[in-house]
Amino acid sequence: MTPKRSVSTEDVAALRELLRATDAQLVTPEEEEAYTQSIRRWSRAAEKPAGACLIPRSAEAVSIALKYASQQGLDIAVKGGGHSTAGASSTDGGLLIDLNTHMRTTSVDTDKKTIRIGGGATWGDVDSALAPHGLAAVGGTVADTGVGGLTFGGGFGWLTVKYGLVVDNLLECTIVLADGRIVKASSTENEDLFWGLRGAGQNFGVGIDFVFQAYEQGKMWAGFMIFPPVPDIITKVVEASNKIFLPGVDGKSKATGRASSGLGFVRPPEAGFQTMFFAAVVFDGSEEEGRELFKEIVDLEPVASTMAMVSYENANKLLAPPIGARVSLKGSSFELPIRPDFILSILESYAKFTDKVSDAKGSQIMWELLDPTQIIQVSNSATAFANRGRHFNIAIAPLWWDQANDAVCRQWSRDVAKLLKTELERGSAETAQSEDGWVGKRGEHGASMVYGNYDQYEERSKDVFGGNYERLQELKAKYDPDNMFNKLFAITPKAGT
Ligand SMILES: Cc1cc2nc3c(=O)[nH]c(=O)nc-3n(C[C@H](O)[C@H](O)[C@H](O)COP(=O)(O)OP(=O)(O)OC[C@H]3O[C@@H](n4cnc5c(N)ncnc54)[C@H](O)[C@@H]3O)c2cc1C
Repeated sequence: MTPKRSVSTEDVAALRELLRATDAQLVTPEEEEAYTQSIRRWSRAAEKPAGACLIPRSAEAVSIALKYASQQGLDIAVKGGGHSTAGASSTDGGLLIDLNTHMRTTSVDTDKKTIRIGGGATWGDVDSALAPHGLAAVGGTVADTGVGGLTFGGGFGWLTVKYGLVVDNLLECTIVLADGRIVKASSTENEDLFWGLRGAGQNFGVGIDFVFQAYEQGKMWAGFMIFPPVPDIITKVVEASNKIFLPGVDGKSKATGRASSGLGFVRPPEAGFQTMFFAAVVFDGSEEEGRELFKEIVDLEPVASTMAMVSYENANKLLAPPIGARVSLKGSSFELPIRPDFILSILESYAKFTDKVSDAKGSQIMWELLDPTQIIQVSNSATAFANRGRHFNIAIAPLWWDQANDAVCRQWSRDVAKLLKTELERGSAETAQSEDGWVGKRGEHGASMVYGNYDQYEERSKDVFGGNYERLQELKAKYDPDNMFNKLFAITPKAGT
């Protein structure tokens, strides 16, 4: 594989000439406003100084630029929504392809109940295009997260309990390959590529647009309940949550098809930055039914509650971390039942860390509970996403403002992730050592137990893609043999394919 290089002034001149007939812009640091906007990331800690930024409006412009970058061995990065906190959509000196500025158009087919959406769109764009038609698509839980990265890595959202992962609702994707070819992938066209895009998509090309299934969707009972960090209360909330989400003998939980929840810690400014414990709930049904299901938690009388009947669009605005901070998302998995004592031990770590680094008081940890019935209806080998099982995600999200705190914040999330991993493997006979030395737990049907979209540093591609890795190596050799798309869980192309 050719080593990748930075963009030179000659490259900028050559690319501008090649792109002359298109309406794409190619900006360099001299065009400060447009350049700064292109390299801007949701987490400021993920920004890198690109050599030049292509701001396209069409697949053709992307194709021209990719062909040139492939021939010249340029380093490239692709920006969708710009939410990756690991810098996966940024390049230091290379060519940035910024889809987020112009490639966000939406087109809704109300007869088929589908939406076609540009590769740089956010889930907020999807929600606001579908809502006027009474429709919604399975998407991320935070409106300003990008469609591209979230979809290519799998995608969990509030509607996952009804319709599965985001990739399970992807019908078609138009993609520009490393050699500049513009192709479609679906269940009837380039099926092998379509398999790979659903879980490892960031490895294969530039996603120009995505077509998703949408559904009629009414209001939901949703919001936050905030509790003081009192051990007795936390224990009761955790035990009640276990009862709601643990499956019964028929394999179904009380939450089946209807409920998702998040348990975690925050230090809200409204509470004078005191540590608080929260339960976020999104229930697809009436307030009366929701109150009944979550009765044991509601009856604990939260000190503050925003629970109300809201549209799906507004449910996706419940979690709205501040823009402009430095954030480093790290993930882990957990299984039910959650041990209250373990949550209390993590509370101690959270409070200690945010007391010590007062700049990081906006940090959060959230245990994400949902009913996985729809997810596990699809096997771990049916799509490239290899992490389906009856386990759940935890998001560890240190949030800070001062660059001087980068190392200490990242280290804290690593330390917490280690504790969570130990808890996951507690007493497990299934802990396995893989051939490259990774020790971890595999879930049912070989689930990798690693969600790549949350674990964007340290975990390795083989850990994320588990049993699908070898098949992905063959696909990589076919569609991106020179590993142009190498910024996030890069797959080594299979030799001699
Ligand atoms: C606040 C926050 C909330 C989140 N909530 C959820 C959630 O509810 N559910 C969930 O599943 N995940 C969630 N995530 C994780 C999220 O899925 C990842 O951060 C994801 O990478 C974001 O995608 P993006 O397009 O915004 O990111 P980007 O930074 O733009 O890209 C991330 C990766 O995807 C690639 N990529 C993006 N778009 C394209 C494209 N069109 N073509 C080719 N490659 C592309 C990039 O090159 C890069 O490798 C959340 C993350 C954050 C920070």
